[in-house]
Amino acid sequence: MDIASLNEDLRRDVLDRFLRYVRVYTTSDRHSDTMPSSERQFDLARMLGDELTAMGIEDVTVTDTCYVIARLPATTGSTTEPLLFLAHVDTAPDLTGENVSPRVWDNYDGGVLDIGHGYSLDPEEYPTLRRFVGDTIVTTDGSTLLGADDKAGVAEIMTAASLLIAHPEIEHGEIEIVFTPDEEIGRGVDGLDIDALHSNVAFTMDGGIEGSIEAECFTAYQVTVSIDGYVIHPGSAKNKMANAVSIAGRFLSMIPQSESPEATDGRDGFYCPVEISGSSGGVNIVLIVRDFDHEEVLRRVKFLETLGATMEAAYPRCRVSVASEKQYTNMAEALSKSPEIMALLTEAVERSGVDPVMEPIRGGTDGARLTEMGLPTPNVFTGGMNFHGRFEWIPVGSMVKAVQTILNVVLLWHEKRG
Ligand SMILES: [Zn+2]
Repeated sequence: MDIASLNEDLRRDVLDRFLRYVRVYTTSDRHSDTMPSSERQFDLARMLGDELTAMGIEDVTVTDTCYVIARLPATTGSTTEPLLFLAHVDTAPDLTGENVSPRVWDNYDGGVLDIGHGYSLDPEEYPTLRRFVGDTIVTTDGSTLLGADDKAGVAEIMTAASLLIAHPEIEHGEIEIVFTPDEEIGRGVDGLDIDALHSNVAFTMDGGIEGSIEAECFTAYQVTVSIDGYVIHPGSAKNKMANAVSIAGRFLSMIPQSESPEATDGRDGFYCPVEISGSSGGVNIVLIVRDFDHEEVLRRVKFLETLGATMEAAYPRCRVSVASEKQYTNMAEALSKSPEIMALLTEAVERSGVDPVMEPIRGGTDGARLTEMGLPTPNVFTGGMNFHGRFEWIPVGSMVKAVQTILNVVLLWHEKRG
């Protein structure tokens, strides 16, 4: 089967799906304790469940915690081991995902794209745009994020599934599909029973630029700093008051700016304050701490604890508590035990006409947590760029290559393991 011969069909299908899915409001909510964190994620989960059923797949479930689980049976006679593909339905809470109105720029000419609401995508600032002259590019209208993270991954898996059903002559083993909620708030696999899955190998479709494959990610901690102040009327506060707002400012100012996301790239880790709330009586600060090296993450957590104690010493009437929680672990070590999976993925990307680029992810995915739980799950490109904001964009050609990569993984797995 020459997958490239299907390009035109793939292109139409994946774009059509993508444009439909991004319009569904699925922002997750890190302040909610429910599963899923926002009811609205069911809107897309149920839509996907219905579409998978309409394709003719019998084994489709939308769980009460918003997981879509579907299984394409193996083609007749195939005894190839099952494979799993995952993507997430939620979008990042960083910017609204309500009323997303995608803009489609056919035959991109290499110029500045005035996306709307006073915003533009300028190749001077985003030179990667120049690589996609002549392609169709999808952007936001400037007022929301796009949600290519990860609706591009969802659309690519759905397109691949529909194509496999339309072409029963392509032989394959069982293919499992899982769409998860709440990946963006780090809870993407909390409600997933991995023992119930059939596959021993999985791929998340949740990466960036075409060709990128990721087998390494940050080790991640979240740290919550609670500062209890000592409040007294400011008119009679001399030598008594411990103002939590001032202490919070001082606390934050002592975190090394050279270890911030703004100052780091490549393999360097960081501290990033992501949230602050409160008043002079009490302030809560949430920080995320990241590094590829576990020891370095722990060093930073320790530093924040020491900084809390330093504040207590400097302001004897305040109380500072520092609580840390591990979010996910660098998957490099676990994945290095399955070199054949990365070799297969690399070959699948090459067969799709793209140069594979192995990149460490400056973030994490459901795949990191699954790998930690014993299911090796590297992350594959979706083609999307500038995730989580109004400058998100994606070339349709890259989505096509991602679909081809899924299909080539399926074909190669069958060739090698069938
Ligand atoms: Zn994502």
